Amino acid sequence: MGTSVRDGASAKSANMGDYASSLMTAVKAKNPAEPEFHQAVEEVVESLTLVLDRHPEYRSAGILERIIEPERVILFRVPWVDDSGEVQVNRGFRIEMNSAIGPYKGGLRFHPSVNLGILKFLAFEQVFKNSLTTLPMGGGKGGSDFDPKGKSDHEVMRFCQSFMTELWRHIGPNTDVPAGDIGVGGREIGFLFGQYKRLANEFTGVLTGKGLNWGGSLIRPEATGYGAVYFAAEMLKSRGDSLEGKRCLVSGSGNVSQYTCEKLLDFGAIPMTFSDSNGIVYDPSGIDREKLAWVMELKNARRGRIKEYADKFSGVKYEAWDPRLDHNPLWSIEGQCAFPSATQNEINVNDATNMLKNGVFVVSEGANMPCTVQATKAFLDAGILYGPGKAANAGGVATSGLEMSQNSMRLSWTREEVDARLQQIMVAIHTTCFETAAQYGTPGNLVNGANIGGFLKVANAMMDQGVV
Ligand code: NDP
Repeated sequence: MGTSVRDGASAKSANMGDYASSLMTAVKAKNPAEPEFHQAVEEVVESLTLVLDRHPEYRSAGILERIIEPERVILFRVPWVDDSGEVQVNRGFRIEMNSAIGPYKGGLRFHPSVNLGILKFLAFEQVFKNSLTTLPMGGGKGGSDFDPKGKSDHEVMRFCQSFMTELWRHIGPNTDVPAGDIGVGGREIGFLFGQYKRLANEFTGVLTGKGLNWGGSLIRPEATGYGAVYFAAEMLKSRGDSLEGKRCLVSGSGNVSQYTCEKLLDFGAIPMTFSDSNGIVYDPSGIDREKLAWVMELKNARRGRIKEYADKFSGVKYEAWDPRLDHNPLWSIEGQCAFPSATQNEINVNDATNMLKNGVFVVSEGANMPCTVQATKAFLDAGILYGPGKAANAGGVATSGLEMSQNSMRLSWTREEVDARLQQIMVAIHTTCFETAAQYGTPGNLVNGANIGGFLKVANAMMDQGVV
């Protein structure tokens, strides 16, 4: 017997708790083996019960049932030949989740862990995030289980060309505009754009995160990290506090982590940590601009491991990642602010407990869904300043939106202009989350604020556009 999400949640007269739980039962049955997708949907559905109580029309129109079903999923073979002449085959994906308020927009992730469920969770979150930016962008996400680590530039190029040879027919400046994510930086965007241009025979803003000489926007590389710090500053401001002198934990050492660190230094805060999939470094004296420049060179040019930081600078502790541990030692370091900027579910409930015990009272999520459900609950229960990813890391896609505007107008704004717009957008997102949380009876709960704030605009557009 087929399970329709509508069947699972059909009892319209059922109370909201029953409605939410039957909806989740149906989501799990229909999307088996996709735990990250279930997790992302569950969090949003929980927040939205507050809205559906007040607006039964969304429930009658099946908005939730439609918003959790991708408009289109594209899955394809990506064959390529490695440097030793061997044929390799990866799997490519693009999830076109929701186009109610604009063309699909969201990054491409190249990482061996990539699968359908992970990309669906990311695409689902992207719908709400893009709505929060106030810009006209729908939600999408894509990528491949290809691992760029350890590959030569030529191998990465051949892979990107093969990937785009299928993807190009599904995307376009008014249809779907991908960007970077884990494993997809400036190098990969360049190869992807080159192949798109060759196949489509046109030069358009079909990807964001492009190089500055060929349609990219100033501040796009910096935007996610800068935005997460602007969001933290706003959260602190709401309690009459600031980032000045705060000791900060940053995870990851890629794009988001590096520019989080840079902006923290601008605000007079003290970033102390970085990590990668092999281990963590803790520099109690703080990561200054000189050390950060060294990390950028290590990660973006030499593509080395973060352990080398501990060999290079004195007084630094390195701890190799031990998968048998039930916690991540990075989150046991004393500090006041945390910027998880690596990957999903990197903070579990043990980590959250350690963080609260060691003085963390600000969490601004640069990564997407870095906290497990229980960790999120621990932060919300503790009443700390907790900025969920779909709000706190929206600066990246917002600046992608600004890149699209500049491409359409065929002009480039200055660094100061883009940064000022980014800052305004992050302030506006914080205001939306803060005010919406209060309006729906959960003041200070920015998870509810972000989920509801992001949902309303998309839901109203879907109501206007009929059952599509
Ligand atoms: P990068 O590839 O530049 O960096 C990712 C970093 O996280 C690397 O240090 C990587 O280590 C580490 N990492 C990745 N996966 C794992 C893992 N499974 N376990 C441990 N460490 C891991 O990616 P970004 O900085 O772009 O992305 C980081 C996060 O931010 C992701 O959650 C992404 O979705 C989110 N994000 C990114 C945006 C952007 O504009 N780039 C926008 C919004 C959100 P290693 O090198 O060893 O793999």
